[in-house]
Amino acid sequence: MNYIVFDLEWNQSPYGQSGEHPRMPFEIIEIGAVKLNDQFEIIDEYTSLIKPKLYKKLHRSIRAMLNYSEEELKTGKSFKDACSEFLKWCGDDYSFCTWGASDLYYLQSNMDFYYMEKLAFPLKFYNIQQIYADMYDDEGKISKLEKACSELKIPEDEPFHAAINDAKYTARVLAKIKPDNLEERYTFDIYRHPKKKEDEIIARHAGVLERISREYSSKQEAMSDKDLLIIRCAKCGRKCFRKVKWFQNGSSTSMAIGRCVYHGYMSSRIKFKSAGSTEDGVFIVKKTERTNRKGYEEVKARQIELREKRKMKRHKEKE
Ligand SMILES: [Zn+2]
Repeated sequence: MNYIVFDLEWNQSPYGQSGEHPRMPFEIIEIGAVKLNDQFEIIDEYTSLIKPKLYKKLHRSIRAMLNYSEEELKTGKSFKDACSEFLKWCGDDYSFCTWGASDLYYLQSNMDFYYMEKLAFPLKFYNIQQIYADMYDDEGKISKLEKACSELKIPEDEPFHAAINDAKYTARVLAKIKPDNLEERYTFDIYRHPKKKEDEIIARHAGVLERISREYSSKQEAMSDKDLLIIRCAKCGRKCFRKVKWFQNGSSTSMAIGRCVYHGYMSSRIKFKSAGSTEDGVFIVKKTERTNRKGYEEVKARQIELREKRKMKRHKEKE
């Protein structure tokens, strides 16, 4: 199996939201990729400039970042041609690797805009930015590609923000950190999500029990689904005792703590993602993993802190 490390550059409406096409707010203008063997050695590369169809003028923040002009883009291929060529170049047996999750998201949104055949579902890929964060940052915080390269002392001989260069840098990061359990560290792409219960994705990998749910009409509907709220042990799958009830932490996350009789504390997190089909429609990415007594106490403290804040607020409103 080969790894396809790819990176995209995209443009957006230079006139802000008013000039934006709702089906393609971000238009891809460059695809750069390298193909790696299972030793993470570069065996081939691919690069294409794409002639924009919607936004022919570069947005100023994008112009400031890129190393080429509108004139050069005019010589590019159509997205459809470039994308088909790229996918053919990928071959039959490969996994995508990217720095962050947005490249794969925008690739598919642009493919949809041109009604191209969809990529496989569910789609696993390796988010090198997240893997780097999990391995090198105590809190798992993600960082920019430039920062990771400098931390890993990867020579910066080419400018960043050209798709092919960023793909090469990402490949070098991967070769340098060589995660031994890479096959466990995949991410599910969520450009598309399960619509019905029977399509839900449930997987246990890299110590995390993950579930990507069906669509719900609202957050409230999701949070009243008893089955969704059960915390299962990330190790053995048994139902846990609930130690901290589900509580909302920020607008898009809920948290809870459970305890498996055999494997101890489990921290569970629900992230609400907009389903896009209706205004309030959501689907859920739920992740459960092992934690310790300290982790349990921190979540408990957070729950109490938020509860107190709410009380204070209500008190103030009454005054
Ligand atoms: Zn267990």
